[in-house]
Amino acid sequence: MNRVALITGASRGIGRSIALAFARHGYSIGINFARSKDKAEAVAREIGSLGGKSLLLEADVSNSEQVKKMVGKVMGEWGKIDVLVNNAGITRDRTILKMSDEEWLETIQVNLTGAFWCLRECAKEMCRKKEGAILNISSIVGAKGSSGNANYVASKAGLMGLTKAAARELGRFNVRVNSLLPGFHRTDMGNRVWDKLFERVRSEHFLGKLTDLEEFAEFVCVVAEQKSVSGQVYNFDSRIL
Ligand code: NAP
Repeated sequence: MNRVALITGASRGIGRSIALAFARHGYSIGINFARSKDKAEAVAREIGSLGGKSLLLEADVSNSEQVKKMVGKVMGEWGKIDVLVNNAGITRDRTILKMSDEEWLETIQVNLTGAFWCLRECAKEMCRKKEGAILNISSIVGAKGSSGNANYVASKAGLMGLTKAAARELGRFNVRVNSLLPGFHRTDMGNRVWDKLFERVRSEHFLGKLTDLEEFAEFVCVVAEQKSVSGQVYNFDSRIL
């Protein structure tokens, strides 16, 4: 029977690459998106051209009712979820002294609370069948800090803590929970700070080049498929944490 992977924020950027990588590994893919329906449909067509199956899942991950419906839809279609990748994320960059309540709350709500809603709903199904892998896409800045985006940094640090707490609780059900830090990529999100950060980030990489997105997506599949490691944070980068 086909394995099933639910990827949040799979309409563009890193999530799209992860969805295609899992499709190449033979998984059926739940393609979650919030607004980019056309782009999500394009990902579904690409998966189809690889001979794979997919399901379009429109849901705002920060809304727990929408997340419950999304997980229910995957269960209704395929009866199981083998892998959850919590990838959906936003930035609302502002220095601390100028940051609004909304900028703080929205970022935490999508990046951290949204990941928790998805983790909780998928974990219920995974614990029932005593097998599953949950991968939380965090960021190197969640470990190292950065200026001008305390909301994003806190959300990504929170994801690493959630990873370790969930790994401890869910381990006895054979559900593995790991966190992955993807490096710096020129997606819509990366593009917003590319000119400001590119030279500095490249100079910190001792290989002199940035992380490759397709290599990262492949690595996510590898981590999902290993059976004996949980509670870890993988920094897929040549910047030392
Ligand atoms: P991106 O290009 O901006 O794409 C973000 C994705 O998240 C889109 O598919 C978007 O879907 C989805 N999304 C946003 N809000 C959502 C919500 N409320 N509910 C469901 N989906 C939502 O970002 P990216 O660069 O690919 O980043 C993906 C992940 O990697 C994020 O968690 C980010 O923090 C992390 N990351 C990125 C970098 C980088 O350099 N790019 C570095 C470190 C970590 P819609 O288009 O449908 O709204």
